[in-house]
Amino acid sequence: MPLHSETDSLADPLSLDLNEQFKDSDFPKKRVSFHTLGCRLNQSETDGLIRSFKQSGYTVVPETEITDVCVVNTCTVTEHSDAKNRQLIRRLHRQNPDAVIAVTGCYAQMDPNAVAGIEGVRLVIGNQEKMQIKDFLEQQANGSTPLIVQTKINKKPFTVPGVSSAEKSGQKLKRLFEYQNTRAMLKIQDGCDFMCSFCIIPFARGRSRCRDFTNLQDEARLLVSEGVREIVITGVNVGTYKLGKRTILEIIDYLNTLPGLSRIRISSIEPTTVPDMLFQYMADPQHKLVPFFHLPLQSGCDAVLHKMRRRYTSGEYADEVWRAFEAVPDLCIGTDVMVGFPDESETEFGCTKNLLEKLPIAYFHVFPFSARKGTPAFVMKEHVLSSVKQQRGEVLRQLSNQKRHDFHKRFIGKIRNVLWESPNAEGNFSGYTDNFIRVILNEGGCFDLQNQILPTHLVTHQGQVMSGVVG
Ligand code: SF4
Repeated sequence: MPLHSETDSLADPLSLDLNEQFKDSDFPKKRVSFHTLGCRLNQSETDGLIRSFKQSGYTVVPETEITDVCVVNTCTVTEHSDAKNRQLIRRLHRQNPDAVIAVTGCYAQMDPNAVAGIEGVRLVIGNQEKMQIKDFLEQQANGSTPLIVQTKINKKPFTVPGVSSAEKSGQKLKRLFEYQNTRAMLKIQDGCDFMCSFCIIPFARGRSRCRDFTNLQDEARLLVSEGVREIVITGVNVGTYKLGKRTILEIIDYLNTLPGLSRIRISSIEPTTVPDMLFQYMADPQHKLVPFFHLPLQSGCDAVLHKMRRRYTSGEYADEVWRAFEAVPDLCIGTDVMVGFPDESETEFGCTKNLLEKLPIAYFHVFPFSARKGTPAFVMKEHVLSSVKQQRGEVLRQLSNQKRHDFHKRFIGKIRNVLWESPNAEGNFSGYTDNFIRVILNEGGCFDLQNQILPTHLVTHQGQVMSGVVG
């Protein structure tokens, strides 16, 4: 499960230009802001919503601006996420007392009544209807009580609306985040059938289902036509993609032939779902699939893995990591790990730490266990003290920093291609190598590097990034 999130400024100064093309639209031209919490999948869905709102004549404004409509795409992966959703909604209502607040996402799916009870909320839309928010909004504009639309999520293949028509008509989206002009997520799958005992995702996002192949091809072409150089394949459990005979490999094969696209990255893939062919692709310098492999571990102790209902042992996980490491030169391997699962002893935590120390993993995202109502782990009694969870988390975060530092050290003095992103407010450039090293430009840029892939001399490492010189 890809839990990590990325947050950037929501400023989109270019959106007004784009909306000029809709000035004759029949729809009222309203202002809308988008607010996304949680994972990359949520972010990719917000991108789809932005596209469809713009196609209908709305003006998308930065999240700090006064607006007519606020769309909040929520997360519910931990209790802390629920609290953050509520805080955000209350703040938006204070800043925009007259705005229609429409809330969607995993928290809206899991607890729609709690969401509807927050002052200012006019519309609550579950995950099944998320991409249709705009239609409900037009119905609800004058309603006095909040409208709740939350249904059971079905298993049918899905499409993302607005993609095919935009591709055919040549409409291009100025993307919300600056980095998305270089790198964009392509959602291929949603939901999960694995039912790990701690995880709320199969309830909040439903069982596994796949995106229609033609619809995802259309979006991939559209993204490239908008200037995207790197596509990140995203979903809850992407290795389980299966529509007819098509698997994730056919998606990668298609993307690999797409003119104008330079890189393909898989955001995260579950152990036991990884086709061996991926490593052949990554090892081939002509192939666009980059040498990056994020394989969630969760625990390095077999007893804990069993209670978590994960589908592998620590030994099987380690074999998979070593197989990848040996097959793909310069591979960056990352993972997710959970601390404080109910009854996790000091010895069991020690197994996780030892395994992570030994494996050639470059970094990990560390999450404290959070009991989610409705999951089997919620009723497990022997909860670990939060101070112990914090301390274990800190130990692993420090180990992760050290391991990333060691990974970077291997590349000092080497030349690696960097995909440069837009400069920050101070005009400084940064970007990523194919194997996911964040590089900042060592000298002031005297020419525009944005959206270019350039050989870069990696000079030194500074904290969790490296600095480099182009050429
Ligand atoms: S149920 Fe397991 S595999 Fe599925 S999203 Fe949750 S943690 Fe990942």
